[in-house]
Amino acid sequence: MNEKPDCHEPHDHRHGEGCGHTRVRHGDHIDYVHDGHLHHQKDDGSVEEHSLDVTSRNPGGCANAAHIRHGDGHVHGPGCGHEAVPHGDHIDYIVDGRLHHPHGNHCDDHGPVEVLK
Ligand SMILES: [Zn+2]
Ligand SMILES: [Zn+2]
Ligand SMILES: [Zn+2]
Ligand SMILES: [Zn+2]
Ligand SMILES: [Zn+2]
Ligand SMILES: [Zn+2]
Repeated sequence: MNEKPDCHEPHDHRHGEGCGHTRVRHGDHIDYVHDGHLHHQKDDGSVEEHSLDVTSRNPGGCANAAHIRHGDGHVHGPGCGHEAVPHGDHIDYIVDGRLHHPHGNHCDDHGPVEVLK
C-alpha cells in the first residue's frame, strides 16, 4: 500500500457504500475512486491517498504488459468516460475491470482490478 501525500483539500464528503464513487478492492480493504485519486476512508473521517500496488498480477510499464489497441481509436484522457486510478507512480484507466495505461498508439494492460458494484 503506497501512501501518497495528500493532494486535495480535506473534503466534507465521507465515502461509504452508496456514496456514488466507484469502489475498488485494494489488498484487504476497499478504496474509492475520486477524481483520479484512490481514497481510503478512515473511520475517524480522514481520507488517505492510496495507489494500487505494482505486482506480477498488476505489472507497471510496457515490457511486461499486454498491448491493447482500441478498435474505435479511443484515447483515454480527462472526460473519456473511464475512471482514472493511480497505479504505482502513474495513472491508469479502468476499462472492463482491467487497468489500461495509455502509451503511444496502444494501451498497456496492467492487469485486473476488482470493481465492486
Ligand atoms: Zn465517495
Ligand atoms: Zn487502499
Ligand atoms: Zn506500451
Ligand atoms: Zn478512456
Ligand atoms: Zn498501471
Ligand atoms: Zn485503453
